[in-house]
Amino acid sequence: MKALAKLKAQPGIWLHDTGKPALGHNDLLIKIRKTAICGTDVHIYNWDEWAQNTIPVPMTVGHEYVGVVEEIGCEVEGFAIGDRVSGEGHITCGHCRNCRAGRRHLCRNTQGVGVDRPGAFAEYLVIPAINAFKIPDNISDDLAAIFDPFGNALHTALSFDLVGEDVLITGAGPIGIMAAAVARHVGARHVVLTDINDYRLTLAQQVDPRIHIVNVVQASLADTMQQLGMTEGFDVGLEVSGAPQAFREMLNRMNHGGKIAMLGIPAADMAIDWSEVIFKGLILKGIYGREMFETWYKMASVIQSGLDLTPVITHHYPVEQFQAGFDVMRSGQSGKVILNW
Ligand code: NAD
Ligand code: ZN
Repeated sequence: MKALAKLKAQPGIWLHDTGKPALGHNDLLIKIRKTAICGTDVHIYNWDEWAQNTIPVPMTVGHEYVGVVEEIGCEVEGFAIGDRVSGEGHITCGHCRNCRAGRRHLCRNTQGVGVDRPGAFAEYLVIPAINAFKIPDNISDDLAAIFDPFGNALHTALSFDLVGEDVLITGAGPIGIMAAAVARHVGARHVVLTDINDYRLTLAQQVDPRIHIVNVVQASLADTMQQLGMTEGFDVGLEVSGAPQAFREMLNRMNHGGKIAMLGIPAADMAIDWSEVIFKGLILKGIYGREMFETWYKMASVIQSGLDLTPVITHHYPVEQFQAGFDVMRSGQSGKVILNW
């Protein structure tokens, strides 16, 4: 089968022929239809320090996908051949305390699809059936292919009650844009989204024109707050950039008693003014992945209740043109990029 893999310990990614993955008793074999490129795949492409320390070579990469069940392991129940599925890319151990308590998203022994085990940028993927999620008929293949990052966005956004609250989101990457759209959808009052990239801020407004955007290079967040009549500060912050400067400004703009969910991954140690956290009585919550599988059900239902994320997907390529897909992702002039298999 065709697969996109990290074949050499150097920048790049390669399309090659490899064997179809073997099906275990508890697994599904999924024929992949569409995949999306994640920031993680770009790190692997770039072969940065994280990738060098994490990815064994060779490795088929990718973990954002939709496909159709083609074979079913003999112990599997609840799936049928032909089911359209996406899946959770964190394979959890099942025997640690959190797994046993039903908090699988906090498993301490997680294996990553396309990171620690063969991924979805291939004609076929094998995953444990429990990780698969059936996609309702009225959700498109395109949207199903981005359920993994949509799940990051939804899990981050729903960490705290947003109804009637003023919400600051730093970072208008695909995940920040989707988190802003969710915040609007569930009834926040003001949703303010910052970035340093106009392409992405404009894209956010195409997803929902009620999102207030601020390019922090050209304009001040304080001015936007004043225009909105915000006299005290933000109630909830969603840090989705990984940029230390963005996080420091967020801390500064929070109201006392504010709550912050942190998904963005800083590249290195990040110094902050801890007195902001202490004297404002802020609550900080780290976010890793999505809740298994509560976030997945909510993703389907918020789309079915009218959230339209289609504009987040800006580019489609046949897999043979994967290089163009990675190039546009690396340029920052894109939302989600889909590869058709
Ligand atoms: P992305 O890199 O596409 O988006 C980050 C955005 O932050 C970019 O648009 C960038 O221009 C913007 N930015 C940079 N400096 C800024 C500043 N000073 N102020 C405001 N914005 C600024 O990434 P993404 O795919 O949308 O993911 C968002 C973040 O979440 C990344 O850091 C990613 O590594 C991380 N992530 C974490 C998890 C997890 O489980 N914790 C999962 C997926 C992604
Ligand atoms: Zn576990």
